[in-house]
Amino acid sequence: MNSQTMPQRVDLHNHLGAAVDPAIMWSIAHTQGIKLPSKNYWDFEKLITIAQSDDFQSMAEVDKQLFYWTELIQSSPVAVETSVQSVIGGGYRKCNITVHELRFNPMKRNRGGEQDLDHIIMAALRGMDRAILEYPQVKAGLILMLDRTFPYALNEIIMHKALKYKNRGIVGLDIAGPQVKKFQMKKYVGLFKEARKQGLGITIHTGEEGNLAEMRQVVKLIKPDRIGHGFLCWQDKKLMKDLVKHNITLELCPTSNLKCGVIKSLNEERKIYQTLHQNKVKLTINTDGPEMYRTNLFKELEFLQTNNIFSQADIDRFMNNARKASFIKQ
Ligand SMILES: [Zn+2]
Repeated sequence: MNSQTMPQRVDLHNHLGAAVDPAIMWSIAHTQGIKLPSKNYWDFEKLITIAQSDDFQSMAEVDKQLFYWTELIQSSPVAVETSVQSVIGGGYRKCNITVHELRFNPMKRNRGGEQDLDHIIMAALRGMDRAILEYPQVKAGLILMLDRTFPYALNEIIMHKALKYKNRGIVGLDIAGPQVKKFQMKKYVGLFKEARKQGLGITIHTGEEGNLAEMRQVVKLIKPDRIGHGFLCWQDKKLMKDLVKHNITLELCPTSNLKCGVIKSLNEERKIYQTLHQNKVKLTINTDGPEMYRTNLFKELEFLQTNNIFSQADIDRFMNNARKASFIKQ
């Protein structure tokens, strides 16, 4: 099936650090002379992707072992530009993704402040522009990410950069990263409200692992447009009702949830996802990073159908939800 007969698709939740083809990452690493732990390409591919047999128990493990390398390799303007261009172009060629939101943390790509943040962000925008020139059918936008492990002052800088470039293709703001003791979502309420007031879309990684307290807080105090993952609310009827009431869309990423170990089995995933759907929570299906999880958007949708999690009609509805919930003006 070529892209002319394939339905048009939307990916709203895709991390740059997990989305670039390993062969391209390998070339970028060599172009920049980065010292890699593996001299053999196939070992490198194993290093930055997750196989079925890998047994990760949490996002923190994935962050430490895989994102460490991908973010290091992407830490220059040229690397970011090539990476962004390849992901948006590849998404169109492989899966007919015509609405594509790609997210990254620019401060995890500037070698601890050695490289200029504006150069990194502009390089990402350049990569996006080049992809759109090659594939004018695609509408794309970038989401800048804050991190739970960063001090507030650094996250605030990223937020200001997102606002600075909002008319150039930065469409949203997100926060991710493992739960750390000193992080308090409460402190970020004002920051997210300001970003939204100034026109950015807000999506927040929460309700993926750990307890539900933070997700309840996010829904109550921030009311983001979307939540990254958020499936843990399936245990809480009131929270699911609040999501519906405030029209908050969940960005589900099926293979990622299983491979990161945040959902332990296919049966558990089926039960969780179906419960969310039965409670009328607005759902979208995304990759979280196709290359790292060895998937793509087409495979994610097929996976849900062949495992009797959702029907074709459900999937069509989720694609429609994604189109409506996108931060990209269409
Ligand atoms: Zn994510």
